[in-house]
Amino acid sequence: MEYRTIIEPFRIQSVAPLRMTDEGQRRAALERAGYNLFNLRSVDVMIDLLTDSGTGAMSRDQWAALQHGDESYAGSPSFELFRSAVQELFPFQHVLPTHQGRAAEKILFSVIGGPGKAIPSNTHFDTTRANIEYTGAEAVDLVIAEAHDPARLHPFKGNMDTAALDAFLAARQGSVPAVFVTITNNSGGGQPVSLDNLRQTRDVCRKHGVPLFLDACRFAENAWFIREREPGQQGRDVADIVREMASLADGMTMSAKKDPLGNIGGWLALNDDELAEQCRAMLILTEGFPTYGGLAGRDLEALAQGLKEVVDHDYLRYRIRSTAYLGEALLRAGIPVVQPIGGHAVYLDARALLPHVPPLQYPGQALAVALYEAGGIRGCEIGSVMFGRQPDGTEKPASLELVRLAVPRRTYTQSHVDYVIEVCEAVAARASALKGYRISSEPPRLRHFGARFEPLG
Ligand SMILES: *Cc1c(COP(=O)(O)O)cnc(C)c1O
Repeated sequence: MEYRTIIEPFRIQSVAPLRMTDEGQRRAALERAGYNLFNLRSVDVMIDLLTDSGTGAMSRDQWAALQHGDESYAGSPSFELFRSAVQELFPFQHVLPTHQGRAAEKILFSVIGGPGKAIPSNTHFDTTRANIEYTGAEAVDLVIAEAHDPARLHPFKGNMDTAALDAFLAARQGSVPAVFVTITNNSGGGQPVSLDNLRQTRDVCRKHGVPLFLDACRFAENAWFIREREPGQQGRDVADIVREMASLADGMTMSAKKDPLGNIGGWLALNDDELAEQCRAMLILTEGFPTYGGLAGRDLEALAQGLKEVVDHDYLRYRIRSTAYLGEALLRAGIPVVQPIGGHAVYLDARALLPHVPPLQYPGQALAVALYEAGGIRGCEIGSVMFGRQPDGTEKPASLELVRLAVPRRTYTQSHVDYVIEVCEAVAARASALKGYRISSEPPRLRHFGARFEPLG
């Protein structure tokens, strides 16, 4: 008998309070925050879907692992445990622990980037793009055309446009130090990349002699989609699929705040000895000694345990199914969301829901603010606020105007999600009355983190 309800494959052993707020309190909090949800105090948020990054619940075994942390400055056994857990899935020669994914990016791009260089990806994540551009290099997105249509169904909408990549590498010969593939494609809707597309991407990279790197933050979710959707992959062990993805690449950057089920951490892993040496020198300068990088020994232990748990099939089935549960309910309610539903998040299509708000009055921001005001739900604008500002200081609409509702791992129950669905329905019912925003102040880079807004009209 197959039952419909996907029960959480864990029991709750420790709880944190969730403070109830009313609309008046939330309106006041919004004013204080300059209508930027990043500026809210988290105690003023009821269901926090800002990000799935570092916000998941650790397991009993991860908390126990913390006690094994060895805080030796050099040669800690916690590092060896961490490195083996990483190499069990990603058998790269060199593993450099960093405090977050962006630190791995910063180190790698400060070595391989620079003016005149270009780094293509399916879609660069915001910190990846910013770290590339900071060195003077160009960050180029070459995702398949299907990805630009939020309603278009495609099993692997995160795939690289390999023909475009081939043409790009031919045109920019000698100025491309690496190609990136983001799995799953976060900024493109949490969409997976197929093994077949990774193979073709690897072949194109080989042809042009350019190394391939994975931005592998959600490797386990990507592997689960491959197992479910890619011909010939059904029934395969997820860890095995992950190893095959790794075997196609020359290195990776990683945020351990995503699939490794950590609250902090990251790493850079690669095969090239000389490049690894240069990166290690930077690591010592900015993060720490190579056997701890930016992390405490106890963090390394918790991550090693998390890497074992995340490839568990019961966990992944629940994870992917529960995100789809939210997305499918919104679709049934007639709310436009990016399809198919991604792995870690549901992306509301603010352009379709708020067609009366022009892109540079930030429809995604308007929708995100409305969800918070109506129900204390914090989502994240991924649109012209995040991507509209160009390196030369001008502004241009982003290709999509989305609000991401990211689902923290093992944190909220089905009744929390049912509440989110109700709030979204209420906001969608009065979407035509929502007004846009203008930016009253903004920092020069990654402006979405620090900008302040004023409501229009
Ligand atoms: C989160 C994320 C990063 C950056 O990692 P941090 O740990 O937040 O610095 C890079 N790429 C992708 C795809 C991400 O989701």
